[in-house]
Amino acid sequence: MLLTYKVKHNRDLSVELVKARKIAEYAIEHRSRSSADVRHIGLKSAIANQILRKYSRNMALKSVRSVVLTVPAQSIRLIPETRTIYIACLKLDLDIRYLPQFEKVNQIELDHEFAFVTVTINEPPLQEVEHWIGIDLNSTGHIAVIGNPTTGKIQKFGKEAPHIHRKYSKMRRHLYIEGHSRIAKKKIQRKENRKTKDLNHKISRAIVNEAAQQACGIKMEKLSDIRQTARQSRSSRAPLHSWSFYQLQTMIEYKAKLLGVPVAYVAPQYTSQQCSRCGLLGTRNGKDFMCPHCGHVDHADANASFNIALRPSFEESDGRLHQDRDWCKGRIDTPQEAPS
Ligand SMILES: [Zn+2]
Repeated sequence: MLLTYKVKHNRDLSVELVKARKIAEYAIEHRSRSSADVRHIGLKSAIANQILRKYSRNMALKSVRSVVLTVPAQSIRLIPETRTIYIACLKLDLDIRYLPQFEKVNQIELDHEFAFVTVTINEPPLQEVEHWIGIDLNSTGHIAVIGNPTTGKIQKFGKEAPHIHRKYSKMRRHLYIEGHSRIAKKKIQRKENRKTKDLNHKISRAIVNEAAQQACGIKMEKLSDIRQTARQSRSSRAPLHSWSFYQLQTMIEYKAKLLGVPVAYVAPQYTSQQCSRCGLLGTRNGKDFMCPHCGHVDHADANASFNIALRPSFEESDGRLHQDRDWCKGRIDTPQEAPS
């Protein structure tokens, strides 16, 4: 698996980045791939070649936005004793003590502040699991609720998310009223995105650790386009943007892979209406779930996460999903009276 880590580099690379931009502009204008053509700009050829290749190949690129310094694998030296990386063509040392064990470094990209170190990591074999925990995303008031139907254990994550989104929506609205620039609003958006990403990192870490500890796999709903539209809202009451749930799922997936925890996806239909005890459809009223068939009463989020954990994944049920969905539909529609 390829993973990219962000490492602060503490070096002023502004001169090199200006040169990199010039080379990128040259590459777009002349579609040249020869480093001899840009030698006069004075950037080391190992990096210049990468930029030329990237910008001359892609015909869709008409103008240069943000250029990074791309260092290929052969220009990167790993010093295992000190856990540092040395980039000779920039005379730059990088501290990689906080990176997990990896096979090799594939490439490093550098901007003004950070080095983005892409490494190959060997995945451990997937664990054999008997039980699964289910993750209900975007539940009432939390980003994620995880439930283990075998033990009955429920955990909730990301209570602060709705507040974050409300706070920044409010800030944006005020700026709008006061007639501030688009740039100011963009800045706030970026700040909110950073906060959300941070939070998603923490939540995904906690969920994956919990699954590993309980020796369970992780089941999540496949977020369909329909659900995305239904739950997406421009209102500030929406706890999070739908992209952030995809982000969280992606983070859970790769963190699980690193620990050998299996991840599976299930169909999202009726996970909150179905009764996790008898499987029939019950009623959800805010935070409460009630099943009129078996009398089961539960917190709505707990019930939904149990349903997700108990539901066959797409892999397990290949082809049977449509049947299941139709079966559910039959239960939710009012039965049609036969004409007398
Ligand atoms: Zn029931």
